[in-house]
Amino acid sequence: MDQSKIRNFCIVAHIDHGKSTLADRMIEKTGVLTSREMQNQVLDNMDIERERGITIKSQAVRMVYKAKDGEEYIFNMIDTPGHVDFGYEVSRSLAACDGAILVVDATQGVEAQTLANVYMALDHDLDVFPVINKIDLPSAQPQEVKDEIEDVIGIEAQDAPLISAKNGIGIEDVLEAVVHKIPAPNGDFTKPLTALIFDSIYDSYRGVIVFVRVRDGVIKKGMKVKFMATGAEADVVEVGYFGPGRFIASDELTAGDVGYFTASIKNIQDTRVGDTVTDSANPCAEALPGYKKVMPMVYCGLYPADSAHYSDLRDALEKLQLNDASLFYEPETSQALGFGFRAGFLGLLHLEVIQERLEREYDLNLVTTAPGVVYKVHKTDGTVFDLTNPTNLPDPSEIEYMEEPIVNGEIMVTTDYVGAIMQLCQERRGKYISTDYIEQTRAILKYELPLNEIIYDFFDALKSRSRGYASFDYELKGYERSELVKLDILINREEVDALSFIVHKDGAYERGRKMCEKLKDEIPRHMFEIPIQAAVGGKIIARETVKAYRKDVLAKCYGGDITRKKKLLEKQKEGKRKMRQIGNVEVPQAAFLSVLKLD
Ligand code: GDP
Ligand code: MG
Repeated sequence: MDQSKIRNFCIVAHIDHGKSTLADRMIEKTGVLTSREMQNQVLDNMDIERERGITIKSQAVRMVYKAKDGEEYIFNMIDTPGHVDFGYEVSRSLAACDGAILVVDATQGVEAQTLANVYMALDHDLDVFPVINKIDLPSAQPQEVKDEIEDVIGIEAQDAPLISAKNGIGIEDVLEAVVHKIPAPNGDFTKPLTALIFDSIYDSYRGVIVFVRVRDGVIKKGMKVKFMATGAEADVVEVGYFGPGRFIASDELTAGDVGYFTASIKNIQDTRVGDTVTDSANPCAEALPGYKKVMPMVYCGLYPADSAHYSDLRDALEKLQLNDASLFYEPETSQALGFGFRAGFLGLLHLEVIQERLEREYDLNLVTTAPGVVYKVHKTDGTVFDLTNPTNLPDPSEIEYMEEPIVNGEIMVTTDYVGAIMQLCQERRGKYISTDYIEQTRAILKYELPLNEIIYDFFDALKSRSRGYASFDYELKGYERSELVKLDILINREEVDALSFIVHKDGAYERGRKMCEKLKDEIPRHMFEIPIQAAVGGKIIARETVKAYRKDVLAKCYGGDITRKKKLLEKQKEGKRKMRQIGNVEVPQAAFLSVLKLD
């Protein structure tokens, strides 16, 4: 393949600015698919994505475009997620590209994640050009948005294509801009194979399918390749390109190409996203620079609802981790929940997505414990350790002090809501840094916020208090000393380890009270009275009671026919299966999750 005719790029945008819609239109216009074949948003091929309207896994698509200069170009487009939780995936997609299209909504302008994603693209030395979308809307302000892009981001925007991805207006201009504004790859065919793994998936028929960007050399069927980080070797079985939603086999992939290969890979852990693949017989001198290593920021316990499914859960996590290197897990046991895993995520959305994928794609029924961040515990004996599970907190007498993660938060908001947002940040223990006005009507508020104050419902609170006009982005600043305590929950005087968590001292009472109230609603009446208590360091700080009650379901169908009685008993049995036994109290699984959403 002539490299001068290849363009490898991605689309970056703030969420909802129209990235996926533009990607669909480009695929349509390049004729890979006909309109009839088009499903809405071909790139978002997981059910969860379609329902939530967000793109989670990066996906690549190859298109053939006949340009105005009469030449045919190969476009390899990689779709990237827009949510801050998935920054790592954006990053690894960018590393496979030479340029990026920046989509900005003409009615919204530059937002927090627009900036975050553009800076990430510029960090990867990509050439970025802007596109102004949604010009069909009456409230579109294309000229203002162009000026804003130049002022705030500092990239040329006056000749940015004005488009409506939804109505298919201006798509040709975008395709031409890709040809002229995104550089062609400049790899060397004669050098040893050097290819970057930017993604991989597990397919039950083909095994591991590795997605690569070939920098130098050639990869073809029958070749023995080596994974540089792990040292593992495998024989290449198939190579090819990405059609929309399917794979198209070819003879080889050469310098500049983006495609996939399958190989005799025995251990799925051998293929790591970010690793370099080379020719075993003629290896390259050094690996391509690795990706930014990310650390999970949020941890929780994942347990199979039915303990017989423990090994199924382990297999599912292993497969998910293959194409999501940011997912971390290790075995743990809970007195209340039995055998399970402690899992680490980039953020709460990431956690929810993984949880949903486990439940839907792997048909698992899960119990999730309260998510928490990683605390640093400084012990009186001078040692320091990372606390990812509240139950491992040592006795207070052994603790010198604790530290919690703090983020630098940037909130972009219209001036009308500055007051409301400042109040929210104050409530979340935020430390005010500055306010910058980027226009008369918009400001960037900077706050330092404890991560554990934003992992639950900060996004929702932000949206509701600004009527949707605020956007948020954050990055880890570091650790700071904080007055933290462990809040324990006792059900019928038994401590439930899966419900313990770490809170700031000043928030403990409020949190404990709300949890007790919530649990009182969730736990059905038993034949005896059940006290629900919250405690800090053995001292009870809140209490509720579930009154005794004999739940006689059959009383309801006195004199009724027998099949109806049977049905009711059946239903009750079903309900029981979704219960967890804590001492002699049955707690519904839902209780473990509901206590997270306390407002
Ligand atoms: P993404 O989050 O950046 O991938 O955004 P999507 O492509 O999912 O689009 C978000 C929403 O904006 C969807 O409801 C789209 O239908 C809508 N949308 C996308 N492009 C346009 C456009 O050009 N005009 C209008 N009016 N709506 C659009
Ligand atoms: Mg999308």
